[in-house]
Amino acid sequence: MRVLLVEDDDRVAEALLPALTRRGFSVDRQATGRGTLDRLNGIDVVLLDLGLPDIDGVTLCRAIRAASDVAIIVVSARGEIDDRILGLHAGADDYLVKPYDVGELVARVHAVRRRRGSDPVGVGASSTEVFQTGDVRVDLGRHEVTVAGEAVSLSRKEFQVLALVMAAGGAVCTRERILAEVWGRTWSGANRTLDVHVATLRTKLGRPALLETVRGVGYRLGQNQ
Ligand code: CA
Repeated sequence: MRVLLVEDDDRVAEALLPALTRRGFSVDRQATGRGTLDRLNGIDVVLLDLGLPDIDGVTLCRAIRAASDVAIIVVSARGEIDDRILGLHAGADDYLVKPYDVGELVARVHAVRRRRGSDPVGVGASSTEVFQTGDVRVDLGRHEVTVAGEAVSLSRKEFQVLALVMAAGGAVCTRERILAEVWGRTWSGANRTLDVHVATLRTKLGRPALLETVRGVGYRLGQNQ
Protein backbone atom coordinates (compact mmCIF):
# COMPACT_ATOMS: atom_id res chain seq x y z
CA MET A 1 0.00 0.00 0.00
CA ARG A 2 1.37 3.43 -0.92
CA VAL A 3 1.03 6.25 1.58
CA LEU A 4 1.70 9.93 0.93
CA LEU A 5 2.76 11.59 4.17
CA VAL A 6 2.10 15.34 4.02
CA GLU A 7 3.97 16.60 7.06
CA ASP A 8 6.15 19.68 7.48
CA ASP A 9 7.71 18.58 10.78
CA ASP A 10 10.94 16.69 10.00
CA ARG A 11 11.05 14.99 13.39
CA VAL A 12 7.54 13.60 12.99
CA ALA A 13 8.28 12.46 9.43
CA GLU A 14 11.59 10.86 10.39
CA ALA A 15 9.91 8.91 13.18
CA LEU A 16 6.96 7.80 11.05
CA LEU A 17 8.79 6.78 7.88
CA PRO A 18 10.67 3.77 9.30
CA ALA A 19 7.72 2.78 11.52
CA LEU A 20 5.34 2.65 8.53
CA THR A 21 7.92 1.02 6.25
CA ARG A 22 8.44 -1.72 8.83
CA ARG A 23 4.71 -2.41 8.69
CA GLY A 24 4.83 -2.94 4.96
CA PHE A 25 3.78 0.48 3.69
CA SER A 26 5.58 2.29 0.91
CA VAL A 27 5.80 5.91 2.04
CA ASP A 28 6.34 9.11 0.01
CA ARG A 29 6.88 12.28 1.99
CA GLN A 30 5.73 15.75 1.04
CA ALA A 31 6.92 18.56 3.34
CA THR A 32 4.67 21.36 2.05
CA GLY A 33 1.06 21.68 1.05
CA ARG A 34 2.11 23.09 -2.29
CA GLY A 35 2.95 20.25 -4.68
CA THR A 36 0.77 17.69 -2.90
CA LEU A 37 -1.78 17.53 -5.71
CA ASP A 38 0.98 16.58 -8.17
CA ARG A 39 1.95 13.55 -6.12
CA LEU A 40 -1.36 11.72 -5.77
CA ASN A 41 -0.83 9.35 -8.69
CA GLY A 42 -0.61 5.76 -7.45
CA ILE A 43 -1.22 6.77 -3.83
CA ASP A 44 -3.68 4.72 -1.76
CA VAL A 45 -3.87 6.81 1.40
CA VAL A 46 -2.89 10.43 2.14
CA LEU A 47 -1.90 11.22 5.72
CA LEU A 48 -2.48 14.94 5.82
CA ASP A 49 -1.12 17.11 8.62
CA LEU A 50 -3.50 20.06 8.92
CA GLY A 51 -0.87 22.43 10.33
CA LEU A 52 1.13 23.17 7.20
CA PRO A 53 3.24 26.31 6.70
CA ASP A 54 1.97 27.31 3.28
CA ILE A 55 -1.62 26.15 2.81
CA ASP A 56 -4.55 25.76 5.21
CA GLY A 57 -4.88 22.01 5.76
CA VAL A 58 -8.66 21.92 5.47
CA THR A 59 -8.50 23.80 2.17
CA LEU A 60 -5.89 21.36 0.93
CA CYS A 61 -8.02 18.43 2.07
CA ARG A 62 -10.91 19.73 -0.04
CA ALA A 63 -8.59 20.22 -3.01
CA ILE A 64 -7.27 16.65 -2.73
CA ARG A 65 -10.82 15.30 -2.55
CA ALA A 66 -11.83 17.35 -5.57
CA ALA A 67 -8.85 16.05 -7.53
CA SER A 68 -8.84 12.42 -6.49
CA ASP A 69 -10.75 9.58 -4.87
CA VAL A 70 -7.72 8.70 -2.72
CA ALA A 71 -8.37 7.87 0.94
CA ILE A 72 -7.50 10.79 3.25
CA ILE A 73 -6.70 10.66 6.95
CA VAL A 74 -6.17 14.10 8.47
CA VAL A 75 -3.80 14.52 11.37
CA SER A 76 -3.82 17.46 13.70
CA ALA A 77 -2.34 18.67 16.94
CA ARG A 78 -4.65 18.57 19.94
CA GLY A 79 -6.98 21.53 19.90
CA GLU A 80 -6.60 22.22 16.19
CA ILE A 81 -9.39 19.90 15.15
CA ASP A 82 -12.44 22.01 14.44
CA ASP A 83 -16.01 21.39 13.37
CA ARG A 84 -15.12 21.33 9.71
CA ILE A 85 -13.03 18.24 10.33
CA LEU A 86 -15.18 16.67 13.01
CA GLY A 87 -17.97 16.42 10.47
CA LEU A 88 -15.40 15.23 7.95
CA HIS A 89 -17.09 17.65 5.57
CA ALA A 90 -13.78 18.51 4.00
CA GLY A 91 -13.71 15.11 2.33
CA ALA A 92 -11.49 13.31 4.81
CA ASP A 93 -12.23 9.66 5.60
CA ASP A 94 -10.92 9.78 9.14
CA TYR A 95 -8.82 11.87 11.49
CA LEU A 96 -6.17 11.39 14.14
CA VAL A 97 -5.04 13.72 16.90
CA LYS A 98 -1.31 14.08 17.67
CA PRO A 99 0.38 12.51 19.48
CA TYR A 100 -0.96 9.20 18.26
CA ASP A 101 0.28 5.66 18.42
CA VAL A 102 1.64 4.19 15.16
CA GLY A 103 -0.39 1.03 15.75
CA GLU A 104 -3.52 3.16 15.91
CA LEU A 105 -2.53 4.95 12.70
CA VAL A 106 -1.99 1.63 10.92
CA ALA A 107 -5.35 0.34 12.15
CA ARG A 108 -7.06 3.50 10.85
CA VAL A 109 -5.36 3.19 7.46
CA HIS A 110 -6.62 -0.37 7.12
CA ALA A 111 -10.08 0.61 8.35
CA VAL A 112 -10.35 3.45 5.82
CA ARG A 113 -9.23 1.20 3.00
CA ARG A 114 -11.64 -1.48 4.14
CA ARG A 115 -14.59 0.89 4.23
CA ARG A 116 -13.74 1.78 0.67
CA GLY A 117 -13.76 -1.89 -0.21
CA SER A 118 -10.15 -1.86 -1.34
CA ASP A 119 -8.33 -3.55 1.50
CA PRO A 120 -8.25 -7.34 1.33
CA VAL A 121 -7.22 -7.58 4.99
CA GLY A 122 -10.14 -6.60 7.12
CA VAL A 123 -13.54 -7.23 8.56
CA GLY A 124 -15.27 -7.18 5.18
CA ALA A 125 -17.51 -10.07 4.20
CA SER A 126 -15.18 -11.20 1.43
CA SER A 127 -12.19 -11.41 3.72
CA THR A 128 -10.49 -14.73 4.37
CA GLU A 129 -8.52 -13.36 7.29
CA VAL A 130 -8.25 -15.40 10.47
CA PHE A 131 -7.19 -13.89 13.79
CA GLN A 132 -6.11 -16.03 16.69
CA THR A 133 -5.01 -15.07 20.16
CA GLY A 134 -4.60 -17.73 22.81
CA ASP A 135 -7.34 -20.27 22.11
CA VAL A 136 -9.76 -17.69 20.70
CA ARG A 137 -10.02 -17.84 16.92
CA VAL A 138 -11.97 -15.45 14.69
CA ASP A 139 -12.53 -16.46 11.09
CA LEU A 140 -13.78 -13.45 9.12
CA GLY A 141 -14.60 -15.35 5.93
CA ARG A 142 -16.70 -17.96 7.73
CA HIS A 143 -18.00 -15.41 10.24
CA GLU A 144 -17.13 -17.90 12.93
CA VAL A 145 -15.64 -17.66 16.41
CA THR A 146 -14.25 -20.60 18.33
CA VAL A 147 -12.84 -20.83 21.85
CA ALA A 148 -10.65 -23.89 22.44
CA GLY A 149 -12.15 -25.37 19.27
CA GLU A 150 -15.77 -24.89 20.36
CA ALA A 151 -17.98 -22.62 18.25
CA VAL A 152 -19.40 -19.60 20.08
CA SER A 153 -22.59 -17.98 18.82
CA LEU A 154 -22.31 -14.19 18.59
CA SER A 155 -24.63 -11.52 17.26
CA ARG A 156 -23.44 -9.67 14.18
CA LYS A 157 -22.40 -6.60 16.14
CA GLU A 158 -20.68 -8.63 18.86
CA PHE A 159 -18.71 -10.38 16.13
CA GLN A 160 -17.73 -7.07 14.53
CA VAL A 161 -16.56 -5.56 17.82
CA LEU A 162 -14.46 -8.64 18.57
CA ALA A 163 -13.02 -8.73 15.03
CA LEU A 164 -12.03 -5.05 15.19
CA VAL A 165 -10.18 -5.47 18.48
CA MET A 166 -8.49 -8.69 17.32
CA ALA A 167 -7.51 -7.11 13.98
CA ALA A 168 -5.83 -4.21 15.77
CA GLY A 169 -3.32 -6.73 17.16
CA GLY A 170 -2.83 -5.08 20.56
CA ALA A 171 -3.29 -1.46 19.47
CA VAL A 172 -6.12 0.38 21.15
CA CYS A 173 -9.44 0.51 19.31
CA THR A 174 -11.01 3.76 20.37
CA ARG A 175 -14.67 3.85 21.32
CA GLU A 176 -15.29 6.40 18.57
CA ARG A 177 -13.81 4.10 15.98
CA ILE A 178 -15.74 1.03 17.12
CA LEU A 179 -19.00 3.00 17.22
CA ALA A 180 -18.29 4.45 13.77
CA GLU A 181 -17.44 1.11 12.18
CA VAL A 182 -19.98 -1.13 13.86
CA TRP A 183 -22.88 1.26 14.44
CA GLY A 184 -22.08 3.69 11.62
CA ARG A 185 -21.93 6.70 13.91
CA THR A 186 -18.79 8.75 14.31
CA TRP A 187 -20.13 10.78 17.22
CA SER A 188 -22.67 9.25 19.45
CA GLY A 189 -23.82 9.10 23.00
CA ALA A 190 -24.42 5.40 22.44
CA ASN A 191 -21.35 4.43 24.43
CA ARG A 192 -23.48 2.38 26.80
CA THR A 193 -24.46 0.08 23.93
CA LEU A 194 -20.81 -0.68 23.30
CA ASP A 195 -20.21 -1.44 26.99
CA VAL A 196 -23.09 -3.90 26.96
CA HIS A 197 -21.77 -5.65 23.85
CA VAL A 198 -18.29 -5.97 25.37
CA ALA A 199 -19.71 -7.34 28.62
CA THR A 200 -21.74 -9.92 26.68
CA LEU A 201 -18.68 -10.86 24.61
CA ARG A 202 -16.62 -11.46 27.75
CA THR A 203 -19.32 -13.71 29.14
CA LYS A 204 -20.00 -15.64 25.93
CA LEU A 205 -16.30 -16.20 25.21
CA GLY A 206 -15.52 -17.11 28.81
CA ARG A 207 -12.29 -15.10 28.42
CA PRO A 208 -12.91 -11.93 30.45
CA ALA A 209 -9.31 -10.70 30.05
CA LEU A 210 -9.36 -10.94 26.24
CA LEU A 211 -10.92 -7.52 25.76
CA GLU A 212 -9.02 -5.13 27.97
CA THR A 213 -10.64 -1.81 28.85
CA VAL A 214 -8.45 1.25 28.29
CA ARG A 215 -10.31 3.62 30.55
CA GLY A 216 -11.85 6.56 28.74
CA VAL A 217 -10.27 5.52 25.42
CA GLY A 218 -11.47 2.15 24.22
CA TYR A 219 -10.47 -1.50 24.13
CA ARG A 220 -7.47 -3.59 23.18
CA LEU A 221 -6.41 -7.21 23.24
CA GLY A 222 -5.50 -8.22 26.77
CA GLN A 223 -1.92 -9.21 27.50
CA ASN A 224 -2.81 -12.15 29.75
CA GLN A 225 -5.62 -14.43 28.79
CA1 CA B 1 2.63 20.67 11.07
